Amino acid sequence: MEILTARAGDVLIGGGNPIVAQTMCDTHTSDVEATVAQCRILAEEGARLIRITVPGLPDVDHVKRIKSTLRADGIQTPIVADIHFSSQTALAVAPIVEKVRINPGNFHKDHAEAVKRFRELIRVCKDSGTAIRVGINHGSLGEYITNLYGNTPEAMAKAAMEWLGICLEEEFLNVVVSLKSSNTRVMVDAYRSLSRAMREEGHVFPTHVGVTEAGNGDSGRIKSCVGISSLLSEGIGDTIRVSLTEPPVAELPVAKYLAARYDRKIVSSMTSVSLKDRKAVATYHSPSFETLLMDVSCDFGKRLLDNEIDDLTLEGDYLDESGNTVSIAESGKGAYLVDELMQAARRRFYRPEYIACPGCGRTMYNIQSALAEVKAKTSHLKDTVIAVMGCVVNGPGEMADADWGYVGEGGGKVSIYKGKTPVLKHVPETEAVDRLLELIEGKSI
Ligand code: SF4
Repeated sequence: MEILTARAGDVLIGGGNPIVAQTMCDTHTSDVEATVAQCRILAEEGARLIRITVPGLPDVDHVKRIKSTLRADGIQTPIVADIHFSSQTALAVAPIVEKVRINPGNFHKDHAEAVKRFRELIRVCKDSGTAIRVGINHGSLGEYITNLYGNTPEAMAKAAMEWLGICLEEEFLNVVVSLKSSNTRVMVDAYRSLSRAMREEGHVFPTHVGVTEAGNGDSGRIKSCVGISSLLSEGIGDTIRVSLTEPPVAELPVAKYLAARYDRKIVSSMTSVSLKDRKAVATYHSPSFETLLMDVSCDFGKRLLDNEIDDLTLEGDYLDESGNTVSIAESGKGAYLVDELMQAARRRFYRPEYIACPGCGRTMYNIQSALAEVKAKTSHLKDTVIAVMGCVVNGPGEMADADWGYVGEGGGKVSIYKGKTPVLKHVPETEAVDRLLELIEGKSI
């Protein structure tokens, strides 16, 4: 069995190298100045790879200018071009960047044509020393795969294995693979299945691990930590992204924590744990609430996800921002964290489930404030899955199993979806959340 290493610029991914924390710009790529400024901040804050969306051919020149400005400033962080559908754009940008992220299945509806275009891209990447990430998302598997294997974690792994097989045929090994989902159960099962398949086949490609559309705030952080840590603790995952619907710089403390923890550079602030009748009682002395949240998610997320325990009680304390000691139980934070953790591990749902993309250069509106408003007005709708997505091009396809979708159209308008069907289009942003609520509560249509 061969354990493979990918290289994006000077950054080595996989093969026992340290876990690489990465993130993605949410600026418009055509706004070269804003994207450069954001890349500068992200590099300073420890992003070891920075992804930039490349919506179409005109953006290839923007990426070229962004990269050359960064290099002239002495910033060497490798740039990853994010491509959604256009193989032409992928071919044009591949020689300029250090890595290209694509889902080859989206290159064309006809599978044979998609394969042909993928082989073309491989040849260009081979010649220019560019790495490829084969990125497959649960929400957008495509007909070819779902017809063959269904819409399951195993189907995601099988789809990835087909594309990796083509890389092997082309003798192109500078490849990373990802199988993201916003559902932690699906995501962990998919990567485990892929890992088994790669070992059986004999070539273990590096993996990029993340929970996609994790949302924001504590719940986005907890969901990300549960999914990513479950895999990192099993040795699956070589580069990670924590996707939050927040400014991308906010993703990095969580990503760096996870990388450091599973590179064995830091340990949990948990001081004791006992187990009785499948219920754990854990004591923490944490330097901050943020650390407590991440430690608890990593210590117990996988055990809950894998049904090893059924419940958890948190004891001990943490330091607040002023350095005061706060009791975890008395402050109510213990019960709150357990509720959130149960929801993230999909064991008990105590509030609606939110799916929200992090936003990127394709985002059509202020997704961060839209998500905050949707959450504030729908918090009573337990057992409902609501997606808030940044663009109409990819948002609807990526909403996975959401009951309702709130999708930015651009120009101050929003589309509202019931499942995969748009039920209201061109709704002014100012009234869209109220219209969504009316629909969910059955007061209109
Ligand atoms: S759904 Fe969100 S993250 Fe995905 S391409 Fe659209 S705006 Fe970007």
